[in-house]
Amino acid sequence: MPVQQVTVLGATGSIGQSTLDVVARHPERYQVFALTSHSRVDALGELCLRFRPSHAVVATGEDAGRLQSRLRAAGCPTEVWHGPAALVEVAEHARVDVVMAAIVGAAGLLPALAAAGAGKRVLLANKEALVMSGALFMDAVVSGGATLLPIDSEHNAIFQCLPAGSRCGALPTGVERILLTASGGPFRTWTPEALRAATPEQAVRHPKWSMGRKISVDSATLMNKGLELIEACWLFGVSPAAVQVVVHPESIVHSLVQYVDGSTLAQLGNPDMRTPIALGLAWPERIPAGVAPLDLFATASLHFEAPDEIRFPCLRLAREAMAAGGCAPAVLNAANEVAVAAFLDGKLRFTDIPAVIEQTLTELPMMAADGLPTILEADREAREQATRLLGLMR
Ligand code: NDP
Ligand code: MG
Repeated sequence: MPVQQVTVLGATGSIGQSTLDVVARHPERYQVFALTSHSRVDALGELCLRFRPSHAVVATGEDAGRLQSRLRAAGCPTEVWHGPAALVEVAEHARVDVVMAAIVGAAGLLPALAAAGAGKRVLLANKEALVMSGALFMDAVVSGGATLLPIDSEHNAIFQCLPAGSRCGALPTGVERILLTASGGPFRTWTPEALRAATPEQAVRHPKWSMGRKISVDSATLMNKGLELIEACWLFGVSPAAVQVVVHPESIVHSLVQYVDGSTLAQLGNPDMRTPIALGLAWPERIPAGVAPLDLFATASLHFEAPDEIRFPCLRLAREAMAAGGCAPAVLNAANEVAVAAFLDGKLRFTDIPAVIEQTLTELPMMAADGLPTILEADREAREQATRLLGLMR
């Protein structure tokens, strides 16, 4: 097989770094075509010196100029581009085979869609893109002839538990239910009073996974599981009623699929994103990922419990947004991004995150998701509305 050319969108992030770790273990299979970042330009420079991609993308022309000079001085051949159009360009470039979509939030939507439309092997970590654009994204995968591989550990686990040859988009016959596991986050056992006083530092200290700050807060509010519920509905062609969320604090069982004959298949492993990333890169083959094998004697016992939607209303909000359809999931996502950023900035209480989201959903008129412009408009309006609400909550 010829060496695969890989674009890593969001290379400086947690998923980006894990992807490059796996890629570096297999130089005979993968070469880096492009790496992108947003604010961490120096870190991107280090990655360029190490992986020598054809292209790097940063946010601004000023950053691009600085990075280009640094790389030229070091004899590195990478050409540096900037801005959202350049993200799309390195995602759909004719020389690219594989695109890791690991930008956080709505900013990742357009390049992920471009990769799908251009028929790439799309490794989808950026769940917000799919939550925003569900049907549109899945249509782009089909019309572009892309191969979509879920990287979110739960969806990757579900994918692994489906019959061989299954593709994303439609559920094979014989599946009754999907069980989506959730760690429960750092505040799983906290009282409502303690939750009111939760700080950003406490929220980003996840007990099992090392992740970026935004998804760590989502994990603490259970919005991460809400976004994943919506993600599962689109990826596997099921209704929210066919997905049950199960809190499993050890994060060893990454999700399960129940079949009509009474079988339940699960995928287990140590909580390390390099496993789903390696599966996505090599599928249908398997390659070493640098992950230690699971030691069941050390794991000893596994626990499962129902989620508490009273203390963690975000899961309910996501389920309701998916049921409402149209642009409601895009509105939910945008309001959540605004609320989480405000919380991380010390400007919003942890327990007011769901309040901002619910209020935004209530106050915005319902829009059908009848195309990309409408979805982007819903995203913009929701951000404006959520920002206005932040002002009222101080
Ligand atoms: P990080 O915050 O660690 O990294 C985010 C990446 O996106 C960085 O490279 C960042 O650049 C880049 N970025 C941020 N804003 C923009 C923007 N406006 N335009 C272009 N690039 C931008 O996040 P994670 O790696 O944790 O998560 C990435 C995605 O993967 C998220 O959607 C998350 O939900 C999903 N995911 C993550 C998991 C994990 O274990 N981390 C597990 C499952 C899903 P810079 O560093 O320069 O700011
Ligand atoms: Mg996940």
